[in-house]
Formats: sequence, structure tokens, C-alpha cells
Amino acid sequence: MSSIGLRRLKELERGDYEGITYLDTYFLKRRVAGDESLHFHELIHVVQWRLLGAEFFIAMYAGGLEKFGYRNNPLEKIAYDAQELFDRSTAVFDAEKFVSDRLSAL
Ligand SMILES: [Zn+2]
Repeated sequence: MSSIGLRRLKELERGDYEGITYLDTYFLKRRVAGDESLHFHELIHVVQWRLLGAEFFIAMYAGGLEKFGYRNNPLEKIAYDAQELFDRSTAVFDAEKFVSDRLSAL
């Protein structure tokens, strides 16, 4: 990803994150493999990749990172908000619709 020349993406690639998603595949560190909440967070990114398409996802993610940093990157905010909903939810919710609605509101 840093081949598009964005400094922050280089940092991200080097960064020590628990998980990362590329297209429809995500990777988690072994030590967090049992963390259901984190699996859910990465699955939200899978939905984002699919809804936005690879090129647009990367452009949006990189732009968000440049502008707002990691945690406030709009795509991360959606993932963290969905994750929080998942964590405290006792009822079923439509995660794909949640992501789709939030993306439309950006
Ligand atoms: Zn994330």
C-alpha cells in the first residue's frame, strides 16, 4: 500500500497491530485469535472492502489516515462503533446495513 507514496501508510504497514484486513481476508496475531470482538472488527473491514471496492477502500483509508490518524479514520470509526455495538448487543443487528448506512453518511 505504501507504494502509492503515502507516508502514513508506510507507518501503518510497519505498525504493530493486532489485526489487519486485505480484501476478504484478515489476519490476527495468534495471541488475540480467541478475541471474538476483534474478529468482528476485522469482518467489518471485509464488508467495507467489498462495498467500496479495493481501489476506493485504499484511497479512503489512506486519506482518512492522513487527515485524522488511525483511531479517528472514518473507516476505523465505523469498525470500532460496530464492534462496540457487537460487544454490548444482546439482540441481532444487521452489520452490513450498519456499515452501508454509515458509509452513505460520510
Ligand atoms: Zn480496524
